[in-house]
Amino acid sequence: MTQKARFISGAVCPSCQLVDKLVLEDIDGVSTRRCVRCGFNDSLELESDAELADRQQAENDTQTGEWQPIRFKE
Ligand SMILES: [Zn+2]
Repeated sequence: MTQKARFISGAVCPSCQLVDKLVLEDIDGVSTRRCVRCGFNDSLELESDAELADRQQAENDTQTGEWQPIRFKE
């Protein structure tokens, strides 16, 4: 088998609540949890998205204070 899937021992599927049915797969460099029983899957990339949103929020906070013009070299 060439598939890069491995079972996550003790992991409970959020969808069907069964234990040891979740596999961890690496799809295009993105870690994905998938349930072999019900077909549930979610990307662990969501965590980094939340992190990114936090960063954007911080940037918005600084921008509301002082506005600086950006100059491009010609
Ligand atoms: Zn499931």
